[in-house]
Amino acid sequence: CFVALEGGDGAGKTTQQELLGRWLRELGHEVVLTREPGGTELGRVLREAVLHGGDVDPRTEALLYATDRAHHVHQLVRPALGRGAVVVTDRYIDSSVAYQGAARDLGAAEIRDLSLWATRGLLPHLTVLLDLDPAAGAARLTGAPDRIERESAAFHTRVREHYLALAAADPERYLVLDATWPPERIHAAVRERLAPLLPA
Ligand code: C5P
Ligand code: MG
Repeated sequence: CFVALEGGDGAGKTTQQELLGRWLRELGHEVVLTREPGGTELGRVLREAVLHGGDVDPRTEALLYATDRAHHVHQLVRPALGRGAVVVTDRYIDSSVAYQGAARDLGAAEIRDLSLWATRGLLPHLTVLLDLDPAAGAARLTGAPDRIERESAAFHTRVREHYLALAAADPERYLVLDATWPPERIHAAVRERLAPLLPA
């Protein structure tokens, strides 16, 4: 079972991933918690390059994320799914579609196709969108902001709006939750939606 957590910066994806991991392990599942960019050793090099590698143009940025994703899926996600593990990734294809496709204006369809090529078409069974006003997300961030966190409010608003459009177009795969809810309430909603999708 493959689950993706999506949402803007500061939406609480990492917190939900930890809560989900604990619950799934209690149920007896093998759980793999991972992230993009940076879920593999090569991915951590690519993450550093894309976030701190100076002036990266949009197409280069899109290809770095796609490279990270191709390697991540090949090396970590598919083998884990093959063993029957539950894989929970902090960001996946829809991050690229929202950030590079929509907010950077490279084209949502093109970026989706690039990601599908990179992953041989691997889509999550469930994508949880933690929806949050970007100003509230920015206020929650701690530490030095990366290159993308420093983008304009308009950029982050385009990300949010595109995520919501993706979710509206595919309600079967998406669960949209209000990221201002307390973490335990969000977690309970995720559990309810995920329970019937889990392997026996
Ligand atoms: O979620 P995380 O903090 O790991 O993401 C790192 C940075 O990369 C964030 O600023 C995020 O907004 C950005 N990002 C992006 N495009 C993606 C994935 C992440 O701009 N496809
Ligand atoms: Mg971040």
